[in-house]
Order: sequence, then structure tokens, then C-alpha cells
Amino acid sequence: MPLLIDTHTHFDVPEYADERQQYAKRAWEKGVRHLVLIGFLAKYFEQMASVQRQMSAWQDVPQAHCAVGLHPLYIREHSDDDLTLVDRYLASTNSVAIAEIGLDTYDKTLASDEYFTKQQKFFIEQIHLAKTHDLPILLHIRKAHADVLKILKQTRYQAHEQGGIAHSFSGGENEALAFVKMGFKLGITGQITNPNAKKLRNAVLAVFKKFGASAFVIETDCPDMMPVPCQIDGNHFNEPANLPYVLHELASIFAMPPDELAPILWENSNEALRQTWAMRD
Ligand SMILES: [Zn+2]
Repeated sequence: MPLLIDTHTHFDVPEYADERQQYAKRAWEKGVRHLVLIGFLAKYFEQMASVQRQMSAWQDVPQAHCAVGLHPLYIREHSDDDLTLVDRYLASTNSVAIAEIGLDTYDKTLASDEYFTKQQKFFIEQIHLAKTHDLPILLHIRKAHADVLKILKQTRYQAHEQGGIAHSFSGGENEALAFVKMGFKLGITGQITNPNAKKLRNAVLAVFKKFGASAFVIETDCPDMMPVPCQIDGNHFNEPANLPYVLHELASIFAMPPDELAPILWENSNEALRQTWAMRD
């Protein structure tokens, strides 16, 4: 069975609550050996830290890691004090990255001058924190790829040295190539299993042709982004155990056996998160 790293989850949200251990065991049985818990709002950092501690006490579950950060989608709610909290939690939770950070202009209100300026400020501040703590950044970008690239250049963020992932990548071919060229890995979700996701498939293929499989990592982004084959009876509640669907679809796009692709993705995750996790059954 291919062993996998789920590079982006919200497995700490209360929706998993009482059954979290069963969900975690199921993921382990499907080969998931590490998963990253991703921050979005400061008021939930404690919840994340406590789920991480809880999971470290269980047997035969993936090892959980924290990545605190302030999500651009919740920009209305973030305050300067929250940045201080990010700083503090980065040290106390042993975070592997700052996440998820970036820009989102999908919603018109978020794209307004007031909120877009605030989004940029929080993005830049968190890049500075990443530099101070020497940690990779995991990017959330919707309809703002050019602006994100601009800020990464302005702040001289060096993904080749510091690592990083453009999570749940949704841009076009040229944008995909630009992020990979800067040193980011592209995070692929269950969206790749959607036959209508033509733009994504084309971007993935263009990057694969130029950079090979080394440019990618996989993620569930659970509880969102349910792979299409799992959407049975209208169920959209995703879980880390569904990660192999992403592996299999990506492997078929690359015309590679999944067993051959999995160790490459494992190494890519290590590189993007600057870890040395060993592949173990
Ligand atoms: Zn997310």
C-alpha cells in the first residue's frame, strides 16, 4: 500500500469530534502517515494544538502536525493581536509551517479596497513571521495569483530555500508554472477527480511536462473538497482516508503506477515542509 502525507487538512474542526479516533485510524489503514492541521482563525489555535496532542497519544493513526496562520477568507475577523498569537503559537505548537495565508478576491466584499488592503497587510506580516521563524508558507489563493506573486517577489520570499506549497491550486497554466519556478509545490486536492476541472488538469499537465512529478504534493483539505467518486448519496464530508483517490487520479494523469508516484510525493512533501519524515509502515 502506498504511504502518503496529507499536506492540508482541517481535521481539528469539531465536525470530527467524538469519532476523530476512528477517522484517524481509517486514514492510517489507507496509508496516510502524516497530516498537517491548517490554521484559519486565531480563536481556534488552541483547538488545533489540543487535537495535535490528543492524536500523538493514539496508536496506529497518522502523526499530526500544526501549521498556524490567519486565513485571508476570514480577514474581517483578524486583528493585530492575532498576529502576536500566531507568533506565540508558532513556537509553542512546534508548527511545521505558517498556514493558510495569501489573498482571496473570489467574494466581492473581500475584493473591496478596505478588505483587500487588509488582506495584503496580513499576508505580508505573516511572510515576515515565516522568515523570522524560518518556516515555509502554505498559500491560499483564489482569483489573486498575480497579486500573490507580486508580494512574494516584493518580500523576497525564497521558496527554493524556505519551502512552501500553493495549496488547492486553482490558477491557469502560466500561473502554475510561475509558482513552481519560484520553488513552490502545487497542492492537489480531490478536485482533480472532477472530469469538469479542465483548467486544473491542463495546468497540472503543463507543469508535469516541464518539471515532472517533483512539482506536486497531495492533500484532502478535509472536510471540504470531497473526491467525486466518494460523493455517494450527496455526501460531501471529506476525511483524510480519501487521500488515495487524489493519488490515483494524479498517477493516471501522469501515466505512472500509483506505487511509483507515492514515494515521489512523499519526498516532495518533505521538501516543501522541510522535514525528514521517513516512510514507515
Ligand atoms: Zn484549507
